[in-house]
Amino acid sequence: MSTLMRSYYFTQEHELFRQSLRQFLEKEILPHIDEWEKAQQVPKEIWKLFGQQGFLGVDYPEKYGGAGLDFFYTVVFCEEISRVFSGGFGVTPIVSLYMAAPYIYKYGTEALKAKYLPPLLRGEKIAAIGISEPGAGSDVANIQTKAIRQGDRYIIKGQKTFISNGYYGDFIVLVTKTNPAAGVDGFSLILVELDRPGISKNKLQKMGWHASDTAEIFFENVEVPVENLIGEEGKGFYYLMEGLQLERLVGAIAAISGTERLIEYTLEYMGQRQAFGRTLDRFQVLRHRMAQLHAESEALKAYTYYCARLHQDGHYAVKECSIAKLLTTEFANKAAYECLQMFGGYGYIEDYKVARAYRDARILTIGAGTSEIMREIIAKMLIDDKKYDRPAAVAKDGAEDLAGLIGLLRSKAAQYPVPAPILLDLSAKKLILEGHEVREVEDGAQAACTIAVQPADLLALLKGELSPMQAFMGGRIKVMGDSSVAMQLVSLFR
Ligand SMILES: Cc1cc2nc3c(=O)[nH]c(=O)nc-3n(C[C@H](O)[C@H](O)[C@H](O)COP(=O)(O)OP(=O)(O)OC[C@H]3O[C@@H](n4cnc5c(N)ncnc54)[C@H](O)[C@@H]3O)c2cc1C
Repeated sequence: MSTLMRSYYFTQEHELFRQSLRQFLEKEILPHIDEWEKAQQVPKEIWKLFGQQGFLGVDYPEKYGGAGLDFFYTVVFCEEISRVFSGGFGVTPIVSLYMAAPYIYKYGTEALKAKYLPPLLRGEKIAAIGISEPGAGSDVANIQTKAIRQGDRYIIKGQKTFISNGYYGDFIVLVTKTNPAAGVDGFSLILVELDRPGISKNKLQKMGWHASDTAEIFFENVEVPVENLIGEEGKGFYYLMEGLQLERLVGAIAAISGTERLIEYTLEYMGQRQAFGRTLDRFQVLRHRMAQLHAESEALKAYTYYCARLHQDGHYAVKECSIAKLLTTEFANKAAYECLQMFGGYGYIEDYKVARAYRDARILTIGAGTSEIMREIIAKMLIDDKKYDRPAAVAKDGAEDLAGLIGLLRSKAAQYPVPAPILLDLSAKKLILEGHEVREVEDGAQAACTIAVQPADLLALLKGELSPMQAFMGGRIKVMGDSSVAMQLVSLFR
């Protein structure tokens, strides 16, 4: 990736995080990847090592074991974990932290968050997301798994398939129908521990992603306490539609980063392999093909970063995330095909990483929404003028609005650091802004300066719709403590 493009999105701190994660991966992970691919399993202790180093879920709040950092740290995490030539390895934490856990974090009760998020971020537990069923993959609305309430329990009956982390994972965010007669208003998400009585599983044998466990899971009258309901009953479908944007985005980040590494690896080979008295990278026809791949990779990467910024700023970017998922994963397949060709016969031999990369790329246009479904979403917006607004059931959720607002603050702080710590009191939440960081804190936290402001006013300030002076004079911002420190915040409101 060009360092110029990087400098537009990543600060020095992001790059330090990247450096230490990359070093860790080179030392602790890369030497074992072949062995884990063959064993079709990654030892669970490895995730604890990640947790001990503080690499997992850094964008989650500190109180759950994260570091309260901005979304571009997650971008770095997904990128680096996808450069190890094992899609199966990378997908495990990505599914756990960015496809399953966000539902618990955004919609779960405080008790659920406190119980299930910290062990995930310490790497002690792994989570799965259970949407697909034998009769419902793309057609999510057609799922049949039922969770019927009886007193203080749900009784779950049904079957899921193709579930990543479903075999060795510890719990699943299960998409169920709690009211089968109510259509999409009858969906609910329920957290189910995978060792509950009535659950049985099979590990599926796959063409690629060998280091990842993919399972079919059967639920035979599985009892789960009602406290395990995530969010409100009947809103599961809407939570899912919202959450799928992040799923597509992290899928795109992983696809383009893995492909970029494959292009580098192929160029290394082409610089050494001789034919007709020169190295492969001297043949114009091959050089141009690699130049084309590099050009496409750079363009797609820039678009994916743009989507990451939209996500961080709290936008509901359905079309953009669908475009990124579609184009990056189709490109990953094309690039894997063309890179393998550069290796000649060696490309077909398992000893060369390109063979695995070729197999691993194939799932990318299928999982997390197929290319056809991405095109269908884009076509509806483009041709039928369909608008995908954030589902009302989700939008009116205050927690969700705040998450978007915090995302926007983080994005601003990533560009304009706040030199001295400021405590931002939003009534429902308290945040400390310091440097590039925005972290959630408990009541009673102190700073040299406290600014009290309502979330709606803060949003207007950040969007430039309300001037800081007007807000101050009109009493919509209250400053307590050192007001010269408060002035630093003005840089965020430009
Ligand atoms: C390795 C792996 C890991 C996975 N991990 C998970 C996971 O962790 N959790 C989870 O819930 N699921 C997971 N999945 C499931 C994955 O999301 C589904 O396979 C995918 O959504 C497609 O569903 P399907 O396989 O039922 O295909 P189908 O929906 O049956 O589609 C078959 C074909 O028809 C096309 N098609 C379907 N509908 C339309 C349409 N309206 N217009 C045009 N074409 C259409 C599809 O694009 C596809 O080409 C995983 C799958 C695999 C293989």
